[in-house]
Amino acid sequence: TKRIAVLTSGGDAPGMNSAIRAITLSALRSGFQCFGFFHGYNGLINQEYTELSAISVTDITQLGGTILKSARCPAMLEPSGVLQAANALRKLHIDVLIVIGGDGSFRGMQALAAHWQGQLIGIPGTIDNDLSGCDNTIGFSTAINTATSAIDKIRDTANAFERVFITEVMGRHNGHIAYHVGIATGAEAIISFENCTVENTSQVLAHLKNAIEQQHQHGSFLIILAENLWPGGAQALKTELNSNADINCALCVLGHIQRGGAPSVEDRMLATELGVAAVEVINGSIKPNTDITTPIMVGKIHGVIVITKVEKVLNMDKPVSQEWVQRYQHYLAEQ
Ligand code: ADP
Repeated sequence: TKRIAVLTSGGDAPGMNSAIRAITLSALRSGFQCFGFFHGYNGLINQEYTELSAISVTDITQLGGTILKSARCPAMLEPSGVLQAANALRKLHIDVLIVIGGDGSFRGMQALAAHWQGQLIGIPGTIDNDLSGCDNTIGFSTAINTATSAIDKIRDTANAFERVFITEVMGRHNGHIAYHVGIATGAEAIISFENCTVENTSQVLAHLKNAIEQQHQHGSFLIILAENLWPGGAQALKTELNSNADINCALCVLGHIQRGGAPSVEDRMLATELGVAAVEVINGSIKPNTDITTPIMVGKIHGVIVITKVEKVLNMDKPVSQEWVQRYQHYLAEQ
């Protein structure tokens, strides 16, 4: 009987528990044993794990976070750490390791593949939606819903005081969250990687000033700002609008609120489908093309399960579609 192990690594995302549940139940049904390592790759290195049963995954699908805990594991960046992890997998006779996480976690799989012969399967789990090989990552749907309902509340208070409001959203280095949330909330401006670079901030600032002056006669003016973009962050943008254009803004950095909460139905379904698909790859029900070798990722594109080499996933960017950016151009500060 095969021994399957699963871990959650890097930024946690709502829906990870649904994936753990699906993997465990499908693995048990296929006659496999299933283990969970705690705290990302740390649990592998320290051999901190538990055997997963149907009972261990009961009543978890509705919970945010991850019952296996997540963590960064700097040791994996050193060859000695990778060797320790590979040795642990050998010692525990693990045949397949499933990693639920983002691009960093997938790089960890690649490092492991050089020292361990077992099968490595990735499941895209991050709120940022920044992995290619899938339309959506697990957690993205919940995060944009959470951010949207938070910004709807900001709109109420911004309207009452007729304020200009900057809300910073997550997304790491792309604008999937910023664009979805900006459009969903009807924000007056979206400042994101697709329309703002370090080189054109003064231009963006000038356009923003114009837009605010023209549109802010009545009601509120909401600016959605992608994190890790504006030099000095949201506070710096607020200060610059104030000192360059005499515009006073209120400021809210949504932060980790976007990572928590009960997963949306969409995330629970996606996580369940991807968890089941990972086990179907292991039991042979899904047969990837022979040129797709370990480590692989299971994703969903246009409603279909797609298996992609992790190497390819990591080599391809997934920017917000330019078609989108063009279509909503009239929202943007750089107009
Ligand atoms: P995410 O998976 O959400 O992108 P991180 O980038 O923090 O999160 O990566 C999670 C973990 O994956 C890291 O703490 C480390 O243990 C492992 N990892 C990241 N990059 C590498 C790499 N180049 N080689 C080996 N392991 C890596």
